[in-house]
This record gives sequence, C-alpha cells and structure tokens, in this order.
Amino acid sequence: MKSYYKLCVLITLVVSGYTSPIAPPADEDRENIAENYLNRLYGLPKQSSSDTERRSSAMSLRLKEMQQFFGLKVTGKLNDETVEVMKKPRCGVPDIAAYSTFAGDYKWKKHDLTYRIENYTPDMSVAEVDDSIKKALQVWADVTPLRFTRIYSGTADIMISFVVGDHRDGYPFDGPNGFLAHAFPPYEGLGGDAHFDDDETFLYRSPEGYNLFLVAAHEFGHSLGLEHSQDRGALMYPTYVYRDVDTFSLPQDDVNGIQSLYGPNPDVNPDDAKPTPPVTPNTCDPKLVLDAVTMLRGEIMFFKGSFFWRSYPLSTTAELHLIKSFWPEIPDYIDAAFESPLQDKVFLIKGQKVWALYGYDVAQGYPQSLSMFRLPKKVKKIDAVLYDETSHKIQFFVESQIYSYDEEQRKMEKGYPKPVEVVFPGMTGKVTAAFQYKGFNYLFSGSKVFEFGSYNNKLFRVLNNNYFLPC
Ligand SMILES: [Zn+2]
Ligand SMILES: [Zn+2]
Repeated sequence: MKSYYKLCVLITLVVSGYTSPIAPPADEDRENIAENYLNRLYGLPKQSSSDTERRSSAMSLRLKEMQQFFGLKVTGKLNDETVEVMKKPRCGVPDIAAYSTFAGDYKWKKHDLTYRIENYTPDMSVAEVDDSIKKALQVWADVTPLRFTRIYSGTADIMISFVVGDHRDGYPFDGPNGFLAHAFPPYEGLGGDAHFDDDETFLYRSPEGYNLFLVAAHEFGHSLGLEHSQDRGALMYPTYVYRDVDTFSLPQDDVNGIQSLYGPNPDVNPDDAKPTPPVTPNTCDPKLVLDAVTMLRGEIMFFKGSFFWRSYPLSTTAELHLIKSFWPEIPDYIDAAFESPLQDKVFLIKGQKVWALYGYDVAQGYPQSLSMFRLPKKVKKIDAVLYDETSHKIQFFVESQIYSYDEEQRKMEKGYPKPVEVVFPGMTGKVTAAFQYKGFNYLFSGSKVFEFGSYNNKLFRVLNNNYFLPC
C-alpha cells in the first residue's frame, strides 16, 4: 500500500468561515479536529497508544511542525490561531514531504501527456467542466514544455473523476467541505490521477462554492510532481483561496517550482514582453512600496498589489491575505484607502471608483464614483488619503497637491488644492499611502514613513515600513 501514501488529498473545510463567524468549537471538537488534521497531514499515528504522555508529546511535536509551516507562533499548543488554520479550506497533501513520501523526483519522463475526464459533476454543465479542466492544465502548459491531449477511452496519464465517500483508493472523501479533492504525483498506475469530491459544490464562474478551475489547477500541480508551497500567494499553498479566474496568472513561486522540474516553455520567446507572474510581497523587502494603508476598527490594513496585511498596531506579526479571498468584488492594486469613523466605513479607491467596507463586509450600493467627494473632474487618480479624526477633513493626495474635503459639511474646503510641501513641510517625495494613528499623521513615500504631529503637521521622524509592518 506504499503507493497510496503518495496520494495527495485536498481537504477543505468551510470555505466561508471568514464571512460567517461560527461559535468556537468545544475543547473536545478542537481535539478531534486537530487529531484528524495531524493524522491525515502530519503523520500523527492513529490513536492507539494508551500512554497519554507519549501521545501528547507526539501531538505537540506535530503541532509545532504545522505551526512552523503556516508561519504561526510555534507553541506546540492547540491555540485558537492554530485551530482557525486547521478549519480553513485546504488541500490535504501532507505539507511536509517526509509524511507523504512525495518528496524527491516524481516527474513525468515525457512531455506529451494525456488526460481523460471519466465522469461529470451535476453542479456544472459538461461544457463548463471540460473548459475548467482544459484551462487548469493550460496554466501549466503555458510555462513548461508539457502538452496535454484529451482522450475519450482507455487509460490516460491523468484520469479525472468525480467521486464521493470511499472510492477504493485508501483515501475516502468526507462529504461536503473537509476533503475537496486529491491527486497522485507522477508514476505508473494511479500516478497523475485527480479525484474530486462530488459532495462539494463545484462552480464555474461564481465566487461562491468551490471554483473547479482553481481546485483543478492546484491538483494538477500535484499530478505533475509539485508539493505544497509556504508562499501565501502560491497556487500550491495548501488552503483553498478564491481568485479572479478571468485575470488568473500563475504566481512566480509556482512557475519556479514547475520549471525546476521541466524547464521553461520552448515555444515562448524569452524576449517577448509577457506579463510577469505575480510575486507575493514580502515585508522584509527593503524596497517595498505600499499601495494604501488604513485603520479598520483598530486593525491596520496595508495594501500591496493583490494582497493585504492585517495587523494590530505595534504587533510583531501581520497576516497576509489575497484581497480576492476576502472580497471578490474589490479590485487588486488599489490606489488609496481610509476609514471614516463618522460612517464607520472603510473606503477603498481605485481610479474613479470608490468601494466601502462595513467591518469586513462590502457595503451595499458601491462602487460609487469618485465625484462623491466633490473633487474636480480633472482628478483621475488618487495617490493616498489621510483622514483627520478631529476635524473630519479628508485629505486627498493627487500628485504634488492636496485637496481637502469636509465630511460633515460635504464640501471641498476653500483654498485647496495646496502643495503637499506647504501642508506638510519636509514632505518632498510622492506620497503613496497615509493614515492617522494616535495623534500622528503617517505619510508613506517609497519605503519610508514620515511621522507628522496631527495638530501642527510638524515632521518628527522618518521611519521605515517595518515600524508598522514587522519583517
Ligand atoms: Zn495540494
Ligand atoms: Zn481518490
């Protein structure tokens, strides 16, 4: 049965966990969740030993490994943060290669591979399934010499099927949520095959349910020999994350992984201007330039590209997330953001459009036009916004100028625009993000943060990003 260990199992727990808070599980449930999770994914032996001390030390060791993989605080204890991650939708391939015997050089010895769709899910039309599978394979073909040909009978390298419960490969599915799908790495027989749990709701275009293209693209990464990545932005990250399918581009981390096995696509001229694959931003990058920064009910949100970090002020960690995984309708690469305590909303601006968040939900009736702030028509793009909590004035940074909008009076302040340097003496560079915190205004310019007193706009200090965003 050794080969069954090579199986990749995609487990997914409740996908909408972050939109519908669930009561915290009782201790016993937490223990069970952890037991199953660590048994399936981290090589924790099934409960057999009656020696409880030995048992709990084995558990603690596996917990530490899991916490390490996910970049959590390594405690070896089953804390809330760890249980939250365990409940997240995810692929069940063991994250640590040693527990999957999935490590090493599983790769196809040929570049022309066949696939066959053995049956269909009732959730989607046949054409939608065909298209999702084809596009998911194409993601990998685009960046490698691998080519995929569909066959309709006989045994293909990659056999694709929708199954439920125990389907006789040693890794039964578990009903809705939980395990979503699994796939085997390249080798003879089951190798390369991908099984999808048909107790899930797979959908074609909607951000609800599980997007078949995204699940399949991840699984086919395993079918081709990839393991899980610790890169939060990678397709091969273990948890299921919704992304915009229309603009999907294989992240750099996955491109590096698959090209290390098969090399680049020989049909692509390296000199051709191709969009560069998305790279996950890193707080330790000294050149990191943020798109926008805002408070959200006491947290600080830092936006960069397709991602945002959330952090509590002066905390030592910041959680990184894809914007789309929280708010499918909010665009990537936003221009500016600010919190209005008057309206208890966070406003996100991109181009001429404004979105609003109420807590972590997108507020109804948005996007609206930038004209809601009475800015002159010639203003096409905002670089940063600073909200003053005392005066309820909203300052819009537009290139080297500042416009000031009075939120209570609902009108532009007289005497504006004014040069940034006049309002904030000492601020000479372009401001890309701004927020107010504890009596100070923080203006981000390049990778620096300029600290001004919020009453007198006097420059106190020049800090770097890591002052708020720990590396
Ligand atoms: Zn996986
Ligand atoms: Zn299976």
